[in-house]
Amino acid sequence: MILCGRRCRPLFFVTSGNRQLVMNENLRIVSVSLMAPPYTTLHYRLPEWLPEEMWCAGLRVAVPLGARGTLRAGVIAACGCAPDTVPQGVELKAVLWPLEFVPLLGEEYLEMVRQLAVRQMVPPGQILGMLLPAGLRSAGVRLRVRAGGRPRTLRLRDIAKMADSERHVLASHWSAGRVEVLEPETDEAENDICHVTADPPWPVRPAARRQTEVLEYLWENGPVSRRRMLHDLGTGAQTPLLTLAERGLVHVGPLDAEQAEVCGCGIDSACHTEAFENQLFELTDAQQAALRACTDAVESDSAETRLLFGITGSGKTAVYLELARACLEKGLSVMLLAPEVALACKLYRDVQLRFPGLPAVLYHGYQSAHEREQQFLNLAAQAREGRPVLIAGTRSALFLPVASLGAVVLDEEHDASFKQDERLSYQAKEVAWFRVAQSKGALVLGSATPDVKTFHAVREGHMPGIVLSERVGGGTLPAVELVNIKDNAVKETILAPQTLTRIKETVTRGEQAVILLNRRGYAPLMYCLDCGSVARCPECEIGLTYHKGRERLVCHYCGHSVPFPSPCAKCRGVHYLPMGEGTEKLEETLSTMLPHGKKVLRLDRDSTRRPGRMEQILAAFAREESSILVGTQMLSKGHHFPSVTLAVVADGDIGLNMPDYRATERTFQLLVQAAGRAGRGERPGSVIIQTRDPAHYCWDYIRNCDYEGFFEKELEARRKRRYPPFVKLALIRLSYPMDWPQGQDRVNALASAVRASGRELGVSVLGPAPAPLPVLRGRRRFQCLLKASDWKTIRMLFHAARQGVPASSRLRLSLDLDPVNML
Ligand code: ADP
Ligand code: ZN
Repeated sequence: MILCGRRCRPLFFVTSGNRQLVMNENLRIVSVSLMAPPYTTLHYRLPEWLPEEMWCAGLRVAVPLGARGTLRAGVIAACGCAPDTVPQGVELKAVLWPLEFVPLLGEEYLEMVRQLAVRQMVPPGQILGMLLPAGLRSAGVRLRVRAGGRPRTLRLRDIAKMADSERHVLASHWSAGRVEVLEPETDEAENDICHVTADPPWPVRPAARRQTEVLEYLWENGPVSRRRMLHDLGTGAQTPLLTLAERGLVHVGPLDAEQAEVCGCGIDSACHTEAFENQLFELTDAQQAALRACTDAVESDSAETRLLFGITGSGKTAVYLELARACLEKGLSVMLLAPEVALACKLYRDVQLRFPGLPAVLYHGYQSAHEREQQFLNLAAQAREGRPVLIAGTRSALFLPVASLGAVVLDEEHDASFKQDERLSYQAKEVAWFRVAQSKGALVLGSATPDVKTFHAVREGHMPGIVLSERVGGGTLPAVELVNIKDNAVKETILAPQTLTRIKETVTRGEQAVILLNRRGYAPLMYCLDCGSVARCPECEIGLTYHKGRERLVCHYCGHSVPFPSPCAKCRGVHYLPMGEGTEKLEETLSTMLPHGKKVLRLDRDSTRRPGRMEQILAAFAREESSILVGTQMLSKGHHFPSVTLAVVADGDIGLNMPDYRATERTFQLLVQAAGRAGRGERPGSVIIQTRDPAHYCWDYIRNCDYEGFFEKELEARRKRRYPPFVKLALIRLSYPMDWPQGQDRVNALASAVRASGRELGVSVLGPAPAPLPVLRGRRRFQCLLKASDWKTIRMLFHAARQGVPASSRLRLSLDLDPVNML
């Protein structure tokens, strides 16, 4: 007999003889959350052919749905449901078959799912559908039965057609351990990953339109499964894909080892030894103190949060690593999370170097569906056995099953990418807090430039702060200098003459420089000289960016692109003038200006689209194969290059004018981080910030690296204008297709309803006004800014608003709590 190991909680206990029956009856009703549409949670009868003890919450099961009995995979949400919770007059269907012997998910995991569901106002099944890897939510499994003669393979459909007597026989085999659950038939199209193997321009004839389309698609979307590509481009893309694969321009198949290893840092074994020895240092006194404060938080009887506020280069990583080891030694799991894949890999590598042999797992989004599934299953098994693990990863690693979580570390906690907007919207900090609260663990937030809300919480006494105020090894923070580029005389580049001189001096001395320009592509605007118009995206009405290597104009919001040059959409003219400068152009300009033999590398979304490229570029720069690294905000984060003595911010004003209440905070964080790249070795560093607005108040704080001064100023501004942390902020986003004539009327009608319920509930409602990006992917967009004292009233208001819009309406609305992306 198979026991599930965990008792299901009956809803009530009754003892008298007569009512005992009622209880047994109750125990045979379960609720199941479907992991595929319609995602509802439905009641089912337990079938009599399997023993009662094997069913319990968290077990994955197959259930029939609707009149036709279509099979769906679901998770038992609760056992022993009272019959009065079942709608009257409904005859319950029976669960068809379990999909596993022991439940995949534990009670704590289910509780997290329920909480997310409440918060997102979607059914728990939909949350499970988003969190579990595809193979684990499929009803496509088969059973292999080994009982006398040759093994038989059964599909669930076959079981559905069986007579009860046959099911009883199967059940006896199941209980005797003679049945094996086979994974869903591996779908090659799902496991084949496609990606381009070379940077554009590609050697493809202009007439081969379909091939170009495939290449452009893969370039824009990065590595994707063949299934997704065929879904997006249509099955007609199969032939050009194969042609491109034959020509070696596209890779189709599992990612090969070198590429799958996103950590393939390219360090050869000599470097490896050096890197290893570099990790053998002892913690400084300040680091020791910080570590103790963190381990105390782990050991305390309640869940705790700590802010590790340490300047750039103060050695926060070593504190995280020692904390992780301390947790594992106590039998507790730990998660080290970074805002992006490359940084997560770096954390993972640091763990391996410092503590070879520690049970560490790297979790990132480049794995195939099959690998993700295996990882989830392995971790679930280890969690059941209570074995602790260390997980290094990005935000989605938070949803892996682990046993007794001792600590979660969010490095660079201020980073916007800890908030996910697509599909399932969540803030990693909240999920992390929820998870450590369950296990009474510790949440450690680390940053040199904490989120204003986090620091406010420290100031208010809600969470202790730990300070690391010096660079390890006594390195000093770089000197910061402003360069006014308002009247820049040099027209071919954004770099002022004195900035250029400093760059040249630096590389001539044999040192390195990083140059931040947070704008990718060659030129952000393309003017038609014949009619004076700017090339715009037909779907978004936004100016198209010129990408020279790709020979295309590209919309940075929806990915739409057109070959360049092609005739002007307005006047059919063919004379163009590119305006402004992006990273691609800056790289080109600098290469022509540098002393002979000095090279430039570029790090942005375009140069890192192919798997493994980012690591190659960073490694090449670390090996000093180039003197200059030009890049977008990607290069400001976390990387450690000891030979960099100059950091240049080419356009300090880019972020300041964004329509976002955090524009200054973001700029401050980005620039302090970027400045932190300089002078991390023995030689002192310096920083140049170019701006057209040298009088802006934020420069002084950046120059003095005065986080707290900046914080005070910013907080005052937010208090005055009623922004977080003083209110709860949310956005209702509305959109409708551009060609829908009734759209505007519907928005107006909804607006008055929302404002009315806002008055009733005490929520202040701004708008709806056109969004800063008023058109995106062919839809007109509006947004309503909500301010309230708690989240609940905001949810109530949204619920009321949603009630007024029929499901069939072409008006889409969604709620974004604490929005990070205000566009
Ligand atoms: P932060 O994340 O705070 O910016 P890092 O953790 O990247 O700083 O540390 C900066 C550098 O200092 C790293 O190369 C790290 O290996 C090194 N380092 C950290 N702690 C020590 C120490 N106690 N002794 C020597 N080197 C250290
Ligand atoms: Zn567009």
